[in-house]
Amino acid sequence: MRVPQGAWRLTYRGFEPAEEGLREALCALGNGYFVTRAAAPEASAGDVHYPGTYLAGCYDRRVTELQGRPVESEDLVNLPNWLSQTFRIGDGHYFDLSKVRVRRYRQDLDMRRGILTRSIAFTDDEGRLTEIRERRLVHMGDKNIAALETTIVARNWSGPLTVLSALDGTVTNAGVPRYRELDGRHLAPVSTGRVADDGILLVVETCQSHIRIAEAARVRLYSQGAQCEVCARFDEKPGYVALQIPYDVEQDVPLTVEKIVVLYSSRERGISEPGYAAGRKLQRVADFQLLAATQATTWENLWRRCTVSLDDNETLSILRLHLFHTLQTVSLNSIDLDAGVGARGMHGEAYRGHIFWDETYVFPLLNRTFPQLTCELLMYRYRRLPAARWLAADAGFAGALFPWQSGSDGREETQLIHLNPMSGRWLADLSHLQRHVNAAIAYNVWQYWECTRDAEFLDSFGAEMVLEIARFFASLATYNRALDRYEILGVIGPDEYHTGYPWSEEPGIDNNAYTNVMAVWVLSRALDVLQALPAPRRKELVATLRLADDELALWERITSRMRVVFHDGVISQFEHYDQLVEFDWDGYTARYGNIQRLDRLLEHEGDTPNRYKLAKQADTLMLFYLLPIDELERLFAGLGYSIDQDLVDRTIRYYAERTSHGSTLSGIVHAWVLRHMERDQSWSFFKDVLQADLLDMQGGTTREGIHLGTMAGTVDLVQRGYLGLEIRDGTLCLAPDLPAELDDLRFPLLFRGHWLEIKVAGDTLTVVHRRSAAAAVTVRLGGRNEVLQPGHKAVLRLDRRSPGAAVTGPRHECAPERDATNEPGQGGSSRQGRPAVSTLGR
Ligand code: BGC
Repeated sequence: MRVPQGAWRLTYRGFEPAEEGLREALCALGNGYFVTRAAAPEASAGDVHYPGTYLAGCYDRRVTELQGRPVESEDLVNLPNWLSQTFRIGDGHYFDLSKVRVRRYRQDLDMRRGILTRSIAFTDDEGRLTEIRERRLVHMGDKNIAALETTIVARNWSGPLTVLSALDGTVTNAGVPRYRELDGRHLAPVSTGRVADDGILLVVETCQSHIRIAEAARVRLYSQGAQCEVCARFDEKPGYVALQIPYDVEQDVPLTVEKIVVLYSSRERGISEPGYAAGRKLQRVADFQLLAATQATTWENLWRRCTVSLDDNETLSILRLHLFHTLQTVSLNSIDLDAGVGARGMHGEAYRGHIFWDETYVFPLLNRTFPQLTCELLMYRYRRLPAARWLAADAGFAGALFPWQSGSDGREETQLIHLNPMSGRWLADLSHLQRHVNAAIAYNVWQYWECTRDAEFLDSFGAEMVLEIARFFASLATYNRALDRYEILGVIGPDEYHTGYPWSEEPGIDNNAYTNVMAVWVLSRALDVLQALPAPRRKELVATLRLADDELALWERITSRMRVVFHDGVISQFEHYDQLVEFDWDGYTARYGNIQRLDRLLEHEGDTPNRYKLAKQADTLMLFYLLPIDELERLFAGLGYSIDQDLVDRTIRYYAERTSHGSTLSGIVHAWVLRHMERDQSWSFFKDVLQADLLDMQGGTTREGIHLGTMAGTVDLVQRGYLGLEIRDGTLCLAPDLPAELDDLRFPLLFRGHWLEIKVAGDTLTVVHRRSAAAAVTVRLGGRNEVLQPGHKAVLRLDRRSPGAAVTGPRHECAPERDATNEPGQGGSSRQGRPAVSTLGR
């Protein structure tokens, strides 16, 4: 059972084997360099537990013979299990939760300090009562360090006990049942050894990518405030090394086992060799106590910079959980790693750790907290631009075609066949036809540029990516002479359930509105990018990319003649959508309950989603998520189509009724696009998506990895969506349209080098420009521009009953210093004189 304990903790009471996988993902600890699932140290991989440690960018490729053909797959590799540790009393069996009577069990994630605690009391077959208290961390400040501290108390017995502490590199990738037929053996043993008297070292190497991983562990025992004299036995076999440490325990005298771990890989810079680096560092690393203290300070600093606070404790605690996992997946430790951001974090093996378009949901949050991380992650794409050019050329296109699923080197990693676990059938996977991922990458470059005005990035890297993607889209478009329109044929939109027409053998659908309009957006932006570049750089790029005038003229033409199809007064998701059959939503819901995965369900029945008017997730509606309505109106007008708010509203309603939300990303988009027209519905989508991972709403997917885009997307929805935060003509605009449920909202944000503090309390919106040496910044509030000097604030009175309306224009004041900070743990309501936010354990 999950018990929310104030806004900083996620607490579980009782051991629930069926829930363990989910808890392992939700309580995983990481630092952007590596992430370790919250597996029980005494457990190995099985039906209940799945220990997993994943290092950013550490992939390995295997080939498996399946259905008579070789299937190649690249996995984010499960690294040696550094947690591995257990004990036994006398010569009994090693501690195993399933073999004892558990009297008390509690697991507690302290997000504020980045520490996970587990406490257990159990009796064994011989009636011995033992208590265990365990704390662990993956250090955010020192990315190569992890630590586990276990305190054992014999409550009604004394006697010999043996601690077994290991580094286990015999693990495989076996975390996702659907992939178990694929070869998951990625690690080859290299060496084992000792480091001083109390340390062990394990070195392994990935089989194909030859990434060397070294883990070193120092294991010490403490009792009554002093380190114990022990005589440890060293055990080793290929890929495994352990210490067995016997100790005589006295009743009621706590024995603490401290395991400090150092992890290095050959992907790391600034080292000689991973094994050597790990051994050297192990001899200097601090004890658990000090590591926990520095961990707390690092997290405190992070929370100060990247936080949100609001009145509602339940919502706040989940938003913090989402921020916590986002920051554990991507952090300043990610810099220089050349790793992208995986759709499922590094919290499990779903999608094999691949990188999709989900970063589009993560970057807005990073852009206003750690823009250097967005830059780093965009560089992951830039370094794979040559691979994207090959992919385009191989598929018969020009420019750069980034893959739908990306891993180590930027080739297409989407599997060719996938398993439908309902029918047991392996099916062709066409999802690589989602060319729209390229629009997302160009969009992300532009958004980063808008938020930061990082001219060096745009000049050196960003512009080239946008231009090459534009070039790809121009070559993807074909000219339909009869209609005098450009078309994009044979693609898949974000709605992966439509992979073709039911009447055709050809893969893909035609004129997907999202892809076509975003292609136009990319081509227009590419022309803008050229203008934004300083003349010498523009000249260089035009020459290097061989951009001819007639090519640019073609781009212009496409931006005025791309085809968009409409039916029944709405934008058609794709051409001939109107000829599909209405789906029996009520009948299927009554029959199956959860019908999110209609693809599996219909295929199992011998049918196909291709026949129906349904969608896995927001597709056409993505347009209204990514682009403001006036920009869309301009784009459509340029194409000779006129759209207005009514058509947009109709389109939103039309698809909202026909979407199964088979991807958690869908809830974010629906909450976003409904926020003005249907506030209650928007809020209910928000609440659902807020719980998507916490309650594993997709029935078993979260245990295979969190949904990072959705996690970051919920925070973004609150901060950007409901606050109407936009950059227009270089100005930061706020036009709040807050659901009644959101109050006392407060968060800091970085905009083009200016730190601002945003606060909404009741009917007052305050924007503070923090004291600094920065220049003045212009913000637009309630439709009026305000120039804010550092240390000044503007206050806007809101009419919370009429959405978005400001009753009093902005008032301009000098901000008191305390308004310019956002302390972690603060941020609660002071409305009724009570803190709304628990500061448990402060
Ligand atoms: C969704 C994609 C998403 C992917 C990874 C799929 O289920 O349809 O839009 O990119 O999951 O999260």
